[in-house]
Order: sequence, then C-alpha cells, then structure tokens
Amino acid sequence: RMITGLPLDDDEEIIELSLRPKALSQYIGQHKAKENLAIFIQAAKMRHEPLDHVLLYGPPGLGKTTLAQIIANEMGVEFRTTSGPAIEKAGDLAAILSSLEAGDVLFIDEIHRLPRAVEEILYPAMEDFCLDIVIGTGSTARSVRLDLPPFTLVGATTRAGLLTAPLRDRFGVLSRLEYYDTEALREIIERSATVFDVSINSEAAIEIARRSRGTPRIANRLLKRVRDISQVRGETEVSMATTDRALTMLQVDKIGLDHIDHKLLLSIMDQFNGGPVGLDTLSATIGEESQTIEDVYEPFLLQKGFIQRTPRGRIVTEQSYLHFNRSYPKKDQ
Ligand code: ADP
Repeated sequence: RMITGLPLDDDEEIIELSLRPKALSQYIGQHKAKENLAIFIQAAKMRHEPLDHVLLYGPPGLGKTTLAQIIANEMGVEFRTTSGPAIEKAGDLAAILSSLEAGDVLFIDEIHRLPRAVEEILYPAMEDFCLDIVIGTGSTARSVRLDLPPFTLVGATTRAGLLTAPLRDRFGVLSRLEYYDTEALREIIERSATVFDVSINSEAAIEIARRSRGTPRIANRLLKRVRDISQVRGETEVSMATTDRALTMLQVDKIGLDHIDHKLLLSIMDQFNGGPVGLDTLSATIGEESQTIEDVYEPFLLQKGFIQRTPRGRIVTEQSYLHFNRSYPKKDQ
C-alpha cells in the first residue's frame, strides 16, 4: 500500500508526513477549490509555464499546507516552505527568492504576518519575477534589479481580509477552504486509520467525524487518542463505546465543541447575559488571545449558528442556550 510505504514508528513527524495526501485525487473534500486548481494546473502545464500565484485561506487545520504541497507535486516541481513570522528582514526573503529554481512552488504560511518591508520585496517578485535591491548606503546607495526564475507563490492565511490590498491583488487564484462535512471527515479518518494500521468500526469513524469541528487536523488528533485508549483496552477494532468514552474524557461534546468553546459560550451567557460583548472584553474574561478567538473558535461557532456578530459585539443565539439545556433570556430591545 503506497500510503503505508513509510516505516511506522512513534515518530510523529513520519506519521504526519504519511497522513498527508500526495495527489489532488487523494485530497478529500474541498470540491470547489480542487476543481479550480485542477483546471489551472492543467492549463499551466500545457503552456509550460508556472502556475499563477495562489492564495489559500481558511481556519487552521483545513489542509492549506497539504494542498500547497500537492500543487507542487502535481506541477512536478520542488516545494519550498517558510512562514511570515520566520522572515524578519527583506534580505532573508531576497535570499530565499534568489535560490529558487524555475517553476518551484514557494509556500509562505501565515503570509499576513510578513513585516511590511519584507512584503514590499514580494510585489516586483510576484509581478515581474525580479528583485530590487539596494547596494551600499547613504550617497553611494544604488538600486539594482535582479532577475528571478519564474516561480509560483502559494500563500496561506486564516482570513483573506488580513492581507494588505496590494499583496492580495497579486494573487491570480484565491481559494477559500471550507469546513468539512461528516462524510468527508469519515473518509479522512478511515484513510488515516489505515496509515496507523488500526481498524475502526464505521460507526466509530462517523462519531469522530461528527465531533471534529469540521477540521481534518482535529479528526486525526482525536483518532490518535481514541486509538490509544482502544489499544489499552485490548480491542481488535476501535469500538463505538470506546470512542464515545474517549471523546468525553477529552472534553469533546456530542457536536464537537471543546472546553474552550464551552468557556466562551458560557461566559457570554453568564457574565454578559447573552451579549453583546466586544472581542477584547471576551478575550480578557476567558483568558484566550483575541486573535485565537477570531481565527480558531469563532468561525466554527458562527458557521454552526451558535453565535452572531453584531455591530456592538458578539451575541449567543437561542441555539446555544438549547445546547446547554438553558432557557433563552427574553430581551426587551
Ligand atoms: P493547514 O495548513 O490548513 O493548517 P494542514 O495542511 O497542515 O492544514 O492539514 C492538517 C492535517 O489534516 C494534515 O495532517 C493533513 O494530512 C490532514 N488533511 C488536511 N486536509 C486533508 C484532506 N483534504 N484530505 C486528507 N487529509 C487532510
């Protein structure tokens, strides 16, 4: 079996690598993004040109890095990777860019965190495949233009709106990754189970899928923990009973909300009478960074209809109260 070709041991790195699908056809779900990319990749290959720059955006763990690697594989080119916070100076990025080979994919994770001076190096690099560098200082300083090989930049970010307009405008392809439905997650879990070499009852796989917040990374993480408990219990196949018990132990509720989701919703209900409450106040109350609330927790709660954003802040919906078996406070406004 190709995906279990790597030796399986406790090395998380190897497991993580082997979990990542290598081809577009193995990448589960995200039909819209996949369909578009397949066409653009085919067209670029027919023209013998590198693929246009691609911006992938969406909450963490939905498969942006995986898709970027797949783009390189499908184009048959090298994959180079870095991240916004890792590049401090313009010279660092210039060094990376000038070491690229023709056609390479350069992946920049968290691209919205590139310092402004570094970002400006990217504009001519993306547009004209060249670098403008300044040599010398003071009155002897002069600008030199260096040609770069044509390459594809794949940027990843949680929200496209975090990018400055000039950077966003330089991407030819913008692809939003969506939360996965239960069926797609079940497929991912069953595929990962074969990589881990464990068998899992199909009801148990569906249960993990339902409780993974629509996110493959969470699905794989929960599968690993459930597998551990199943093994300790001496099961030959991961059972539904063990799965339910393990997930409850991990404080993952029936629809996949974890203890931080609970803390967030209950805090709005109990301390702010259902809201509205501003992001910073909420952040201080529950002790989570505003950015984490906005990028990791809120998108799923918004999508599920548990909270709403209003001009005056976040409010929890009647559905949240129902989820916690509480009665919805009547508000006179
Ligand atoms: P991101 O870069 O968006 O944070 P990753 O690409 O690192 O997410 O994906 C997280 C994990 O989920 C990886 O281990 C990857 O194998 C798995 N994964 C993500 N998307 C898919 C998919 N469509 N099919 C199968 N596995 C996936």
